[in-house]
Amino acid sequence: MALMFQNSLTRQKEAFTPIVPGKVGLYTCGPTVYNFAHIGNFRAYVFEDLLKRTLCFCGYDVHHVMNLTDVDDKTIRDSKAEGTPLRDFTQRYKDAFFEDVDTLMIDRADVYPAATDHVAEMIEIVQTLCDKGNAYQANDGSVYFSIETFPSYGQLVRIDQENLRPGTRVKLDEYEKDAVADFALWKAYDEGDGDVAWDSPWGKGRPGWHIECSAMSMKYLGETFDIHCGGVDNMFPHHEDEIAQSEAANGCKFVNYWLHNAHLVVEGKKMSKSLGNFYTLRDLFERGFSGREIRWVLLNTHYRQLLNFSFDACENARAALQRLDDFVVRLKEAALLADAGEARMAERLEAAEAGFRGGLEDDLNISVAVAALFDFVRDTNKGLDDGSIGGATAQKALDLLSCFDSVLAVLSIGKGDDVPADVLAMVEDRQAARKARDFARADALRDELAALGWVIEDTAQGARVKRG
Ligand code: AMP
Ligand code: ZN
Repeated sequence: MALMFQNSLTRQKEAFTPIVPGKVGLYTCGPTVYNFAHIGNFRAYVFEDLLKRTLCFCGYDVHHVMNLTDVDDKTIRDSKAEGTPLRDFTQRYKDAFFEDVDTLMIDRADVYPAATDHVAEMIEIVQTLCDKGNAYQANDGSVYFSIETFPSYGQLVRIDQENLRPGTRVKLDEYEKDAVADFALWKAYDEGDGDVAWDSPWGKGRPGWHIECSAMSMKYLGETFDIHCGGVDNMFPHHEDEIAQSEAANGCKFVNYWLHNAHLVVEGKKMSKSLGNFYTLRDLFERGFSGREIRWVLLNTHYRQLLNFSFDACENARAALQRLDDFVVRLKEAALLADAGEARMAERLEAAEAGFRGGLEDDLNISVAVAALFDFVRDTNKGLDDGSIGGATAQKALDLLSCFDSVLAVLSIGKGDDVPADVLAMVEDRQAARKARDFARADALRDELAALGWVIEDTAQGARVKRG
């Protein structure tokens, strides 16, 4: 099956065809660095990580750009309130963002351009729009995009052309759909901006939020690129305005596939800073949850469905991951045993791979992919129980899990906490001794392992070794 995505632009599920075969240009709207990102924001970034990892899993070479919005209405407002220079203020939240990205095992983008480093590129686009007659400087000194000069304005969110109010203007970065109007590309300096200003052909001022993404995506991915993502709240006005600016300036299509994630909600309401109903990762660590547990929660609801955040979901994530961890440990032990060439293994591996891949290829249907994974765990555990999986067959199962984990990024296969081979060999000897009813030898091996700092647990699924 081909890779399919639900394209917000056409509202259809479409087969994915990149502009350059084998390569994907991906732009994802990044954080506005005026506070710690909350887990609602991270739902967007984890979804984008799933998308990127899936593309890589399917063999594409992905070039990923994520901007950092370090100048806009909100960063200026809050840095001023705190009395901290904008650069120092935003640096604090940029650092926190990268820390959180690593904690959630989000694969870093290739480039993280900051808006304040790209003002010259933004001015250039605004100038082009003025030259082409798509923008004008108003009496207040700001430059606005004229929506009536761009007949397909509203194509992404389907704004009824009758609701357009050309000639009326909106200077704020964020506004409602019923306030659709000419929007600010360049904002003339006012006192509220403090010392945040750049020189431009229209006088001192600063860029609007939307022009940032048009300028940075074009610089790093070209005038037309493959995929652009963000949360559904970004569709209007942010993405609609990006399309208008970029297509009017460049005279060509901006983006081929738009993918938007639904919100993470708490008691039915969007998690957001303005509502105050948010948790940061730090809040959840204090409640004892780990980065990979939170990743699992964020990953496990299909990206176009609302995700209702709850602590029960975090507990369920813990249980699911424990199950996977136990499975990995058992497979590692079994891989050191003599080859047991269970005939069904090839068939089982194939079915798991097909189920997992098929789910992801179908617009990132994570539920189908994870169901295939757990079917594999259940079925393979049976083979481990009756001793029909060992050596190379167990290793093949581990290899498949590693491959799945290149997308899920929650397991530790072959990472630092591995059980050393000599310890596993002793576990194996002990199992053999027990089978032979040589309990004296089995106990001696257990004590030797304890002296080395390893504890054996006899579980219903067999012996397992853990650090004591
Ligand atoms: P912002 O920093 O507000 O620009 O948001 C960064 C990203 O997080 C954007 O893609 C938003 O659409 C997304 N986002 C914000 N709140 C939520 C939420 N509650 N659930 C899912 N995505 C969100
Ligand atoms: Zn953006």
